[in-house]
Amino acid sequence: MRIGIVGLGLIGGSLGLDFRDQGHFVVGVSRQPHTCDRSLALGVVDEASVDLKAVQDCEVIFLCTPLNVLVKTALAIVPDLKEETIVTDVGSAKTTIVEALEPHCPNFIGGHPMAGKAERGIDVAQRGLFANNPYVLTPTATTPPKAIETLRHLIDQLQARYYTCSPEQHDRAVAWISHLPVMVSASLIESCFQETDPAVLHLAQNLASSGFRDTSRVGGGVPELGRLMAEYNSTALLYSLYAYRQVLDRFIQQVETQQWPALEAVLEHCETHRPDFL
Ligand code: NAP
Repeated sequence: MRIGIVGLGLIGGSLGLDFRDQGHFVVGVSRQPHTCDRSLALGVVDEASVDLKAVQDCEVIFLCTPLNVLVKTALAIVPDLKEETIVTDVGSAKTTIVEALEPHCPNFIGGHPMAGKAERGIDVAQRGLFANNPYVLTPTATTPPKAIETLRHLIDQLQARYYTCSPEQHDRAVAWISHLPVMVSASLIESCFQETDPAVLHLAQNLASSGFRDTSRVGGGVPELGRLMAEYNSTALLYSLYAYRQVLDRFIQQVETQQWPALEAVLEHCETHRPDFL
């Protein structure tokens, strides 16, 4: 199959490596000539260009740019495509993207591979990034079944775990397990700077070990990605943030009023049910 990838970074590059391994012909488009050269050198693509027209003969196109340029980029490509060309994106928020693109592209399906890294760019693209991780498609009532089938086959080739749901369900679910954790983890790091004694803050920085490394990881990631998640999934994120604030208030109250058994009961519930998510 001739596959187009627009946006050659971590996700686009990793898709290119896996699809080439499966024998597909991969055409990449990126904004900077340097990124195109690196993609060729790293074996991510068979052909690379800064011209969006390069993907117009592809059977399937993956849009892998940052969220804020995704719709604009797609709308620039769509008029040159054949009617049967399947277009999908990998953005981490779905409702706004699907609503903007579906009316212009009959074979558009939103998608989101649930795999990533703290770093970005073509140099951190990785073979097998998606294997054993969820990959969700968000078709709607008007999505052609043939397009879903074709993408499902490609997702199977990535050895990812295939799911489907509506764009709205996707956004609510990822708010809980991806977008809220970024905000919570960032607020943890930010809270430490409320320490007024510089000596204590310095000591805390020296004593921080595996626990802080785990809990601060997603909050200390690429700022632009966190901001775009919040911007493009603000409704669902706000819903989860308000719920989180209620839980935090309950913890404060339990500590203030020394309700240790009640606090322990919540922590027991968390210990029992954490595996439900992992
Ligand atoms: P990334 O590593 O920064 O890659 C994005 C690439 O898009 C950049 O390398 C950039 O290449 C290119 N680009 C930027 N503007 C462009 C434009 N106007 N036209 C063409 N190419 C353009 O980011 P990423 O982590 O792969 O994320 C890409 C998408 O995947 C985002 O929509 C994000 O929501 C989604 N996603 C990310 C993760 C994650 O954990 N990182 C996980 C799942 C989904 P140049 O060097 O050419 O500018």
